[in-house]
Amino acid sequence: MRKLVILGATGSVGEQALEVAAGSDELVVAGLTADRNWERLVEQAGDHGVPLVALADAEAASAAAGAWNGRVLSGEAGIRELIARSGADLILNGIVGSAGLGPTIVALTEGIDLALANKESLVVGGELITALAEATDSRIIPVDSEHSALHQLIRAESPGTVERLVLTASGGPFRGRTDLDGVSPDEALAHPTWDMGGRITIDCATLINKGFELIEAHHLFGFPYERIDVVVHPQSIVHALVHLNDGATLAHLGHPDMRVPISYALHFPERADVKVPTLDLASVGELTFEEPDMETFPCLRLARGAGEEAGGTAPCVLNAADEVAVGAFLGGRIAFTAIAEVVERTLDAVPVTRPSHFEDLYAADAEARERADDLANTVGAAR
Ligand code: NDP
Repeated sequence: MRKLVILGATGSVGEQALEVAAGSDELVVAGLTADRNWERLVEQAGDHGVPLVALADAEAASAAAGAWNGRVLSGEAGIRELIARSGADLILNGIVGSAGLGPTIVALTEGIDLALANKESLVVGGELITALAEATDSRIIPVDSEHSALHQLIRAESPGTVERLVLTASGGPFRGRTDLDGVSPDEALAHPTWDMGGRITIDCATLINKGFELIEAHHLFGFPYERIDVVVHPQSIVHALVHLNDGATLAHLGHPDMRVPISYALHFPERADVKVPTLDLASVGELTFEEPDMETFPCLRLARGAGEEAGGTAPCVLNAADEVAVGAFLGGRIAFTAIAEVVERTLDAVPVTRPSHFEDLYAADAEARERADDLANTVGAAR
C-alpha cells in the first residue's frame, strides 16, 4: 500500500482524487487538506478513515477541531506540517492558485512524489521547482489532462524523436464569438465540456488557462516554447498530440473525465481500472480543430509572451494578476473583457527579475497582486 495525501480535498480535483483512491487496492489516504470548508473535510475524513487533516483558515481549523475526534492542523504551517509528518509516498496537490506553491515546495523538499494538478506551482515556480524535484529525486506526475496525455505519449518514445507538442483547448463557452462585452459570470462559468472549479473555468473562458498549460508543458517536458502549439478542439476528446521525427503524429483520446488522468497520476507507472465508458468514435461523430482566436482572447498571447519572451518572474506576475482579476470579475467589480486588461497592465507595471530563491517569487506575487487590485479598481467596471 502507498500512503497518499490529498491537498485541496474539498475541490473538484480533490473530490475526484478521493473517489479514485477509495476504489484503489494500492492507496491508503493518510491526510486531507482544505482552505475553509471544514464541514466537508471532516465528513471526507470520517467516511474514508483518514486520521489527519489540515485547514489553511485558522477559524475553520478550530471549528473542525471542536467537531471531530481526529487530529486537525491549522494554517499554512499546518498544511506544511501535515505533508512533512504524514509519511506520505505520494502527494496530490489539488489546491487552486499560487497558494499551492508552498505545499509543492515542501513535498519536493521531503523527497515525496507529487501528482500535480496545481499548475500554478510550475507557472509561478518553473525552473526552481523542476530543479528542486531533480535535486531530491522526486517525480512530478501531471494531473492536468493534456499534460497527462503528453506524459503518456512522450514516455512511449525514444529520446530525440518527439519534435513538437500540441495542447488542445476546448475554446471555452465563448468560442466563435468576437464581442464579449457584458458577459456575466454565470455565462463564463458554463464550460461546454469539463466540470471544474470556478477559477479554472473562468481561465478556460479567457483562454489564459491554455497559456498556463503552455508554460506548464515547457517546464514538465523541457521543450522550448517554439515547439509547443495550441489548437482549439471543441469536443475535448483529443487531449494532446505529439509530432515525431519520422512524420508520424500520435494523439491521446478519451472522454473528458478527470478521474482518468487522476488515476494515471496516482498509480503511475501502473494503471488501474477506472469506470468510464469506452470511447465510441462513431457516436462522437466528428472531431474538429481550429486556430485559437488571439484577437478576441488576448490572454493566450499574454501568457505565451510572459513565458517565451519575458521569462523570469513574468509568469508569476501573470498568474497573480489573473487570480486577482478573476476574483474581481466573479465579485462583479470588473467586466469579463477587463480581465485581460488587468493582466496586461500588471505585466507592464511589474518589473521582471530573474528569481534565484522562492522568496523572489513570493515578492513578485505580492507586488503583482497589489498592482492588479489597484488596476481592478480603475479599469473596465462591470457592466
Ligand atoms: P477548486 O476551486 O474546486 O478547489 C480548490 C481546493 O483548494 C479546495 O479544496 C480549496 O479548499 C483549496 N484551497 C483554496 N485556497 C486554498 C488556500 N489558500 N490554501 C489551501 N487550500 C486552498 O479547484 P479545482 O479542483 O478546480 O482546481 C485545483 C487545481 O487543479 C487548480 O490549479 C486547477 O488549475 C487544476 N486543475 C483542475 C482541473 C479540474 O478539473 N478541476 C483540471 C486540471 C487542472 P476550500 O474548499 O476550503 O475552499
